[in-house]
Amino acid sequence: MTLHIPTLMLALLLGFLLLTLELGVALRRLHNRPELRSWTWGCWALFAGFAMLAARVVVPVWLSIVLGNGLICLGILMYTRALYRMLLDAPLPRWLIAAFGTSVLGIVVMLSWPMHQRTAIVSMFFVVLLVPAVAIVVRHGWSAERSLRTVAVTMGLAAVALGVRAVHAWLNPGDYTDLLQASLGQGLTFLMSFLSIMGAGFAFVLAVFERVALQMEKLATHDGLTGCLNRSTIDAMLSHALERGRRDRSPVSFVLLDLDHFKLVNDQHGHRTGDAVLRAFARTVRERLRASDVFGRTGGEEFGVVLPGTDASGARRLLEQVRGAVEAMQVRDTIGHPVRITVSAGLAVADPASPISGDRLYGRADRALYEAKHGGRNRVETYSGAESGFFAQEKAPAGAKVPQ
Ligand code: GH3
Ligand code: MG
Ligand code: MG
Repeated sequence: MTLHIPTLMLALLLGFLLLTLELGVALRRLHNRPELRSWTWGCWALFAGFAMLAARVVVPVWLSIVLGNGLICLGILMYTRALYRMLLDAPLPRWLIAAFGTSVLGIVVMLSWPMHQRTAIVSMFFVVLLVPAVAIVVRHGWSAERSLRTVAVTMGLAAVALGVRAVHAWLNPGDYTDLLQASLGQGLTFLMSFLSIMGAGFAFVLAVFERVALQMEKLATHDGLTGCLNRSTIDAMLSHALERGRRDRSPVSFVLLDLDHFKLVNDQHGHRTGDAVLRAFARTVRERLRASDVFGRTGGEEFGVVLPGTDASGARRLLEQVRGAVEAMQVRDTIGHPVRITVSAGLAVADPASPISGDRLYGRADRALYEAKHGGRNRVETYSGAESGFFAQEKAPAGAKVPQ
């Protein structure tokens, strides 16, 4: 059985062209993704390389060999570059660029060699350029986007197919007197390597889309500045925790944290320092929470914490730690001056015996926070059920005595 190489080449070339064009269209929308841009350039280089190899019936053979194989090397290098960008956010290492240069030089030097030897060695050049791409995904991308595993597997398959091709060519010179010659070994290894590289292309595009989808999901649920959850997610998590607490008969604590006199930080040290303080604050709190606790930014310089299975004394202990840690926090402004900050906390606890909605618990924590602010700031207050201060005056009928 033999495979008709010119037909194979035409079908694969058209397939590759389709992928490359589709990528070009996707890039118009995803123009801020350098990894996809790099991959697309890689696809163009591979397409042009394969086309050049096929074009040896019309262009001089030496040009077809040098340009064709050189462009294929460049294409693989661009694929690897895309993976470095995506997984490490780093440029290609110099040794890989040197390996590419050596391969191209080797292709030129070997022009007068017999075809089977050239095929064997050039196939090995491709393998050498493919292996780092596989290695980087295995080392840094195996637990990232799922589709990256397919990239590694398909590129690995291409490397294996090319390795087999190298050995086959070396041992069967008669099968490799012309690139378009029909033979089983030549046809199968060619088909495998071409298909795998194309498969890697599709898988990479899927991986980029997977990453974009994850980023969108994160944007919808997280606060961009501090990386903690946003208000709507905190609300949903609070309701969920209350529901669970009722079922498990365990208390749920909810806390509102508000930075004290934060406006002054902005006024005295600038908005950028204010942002740095917010990030440092979020980090300090997060470090003291359990994995099951939920922490989010409810707005401006105010944060909410849901503590499932935590009663008032446990929550107060934690909050005292947080308060102390924030007081001791060391943040410097843009000219190196230290910035001091304190935090006030309002705590409300949901007793599983008397169900309460998330909204009401939130309101109670807000009242406790109000007490903490009025009590002098840098303190923790727990909602006690007594309607006092501003809220009591708001609710109490005119002339009624405000309970203290
Ligand atoms: P209090 O102790 O009563 O809470 O006083 P405060 O100054 O902290 O509270 P106030 O509500 O008067 O001011 C909050 C400030 O937080 C005003 C606003 O400019 C600032 N702020 C809100 N969001 C951000 C942000 O994302 N970055 C920065 N840098 N500042 C922010
Ligand atoms: Mg404040
Ligand atoms: Mg506030």
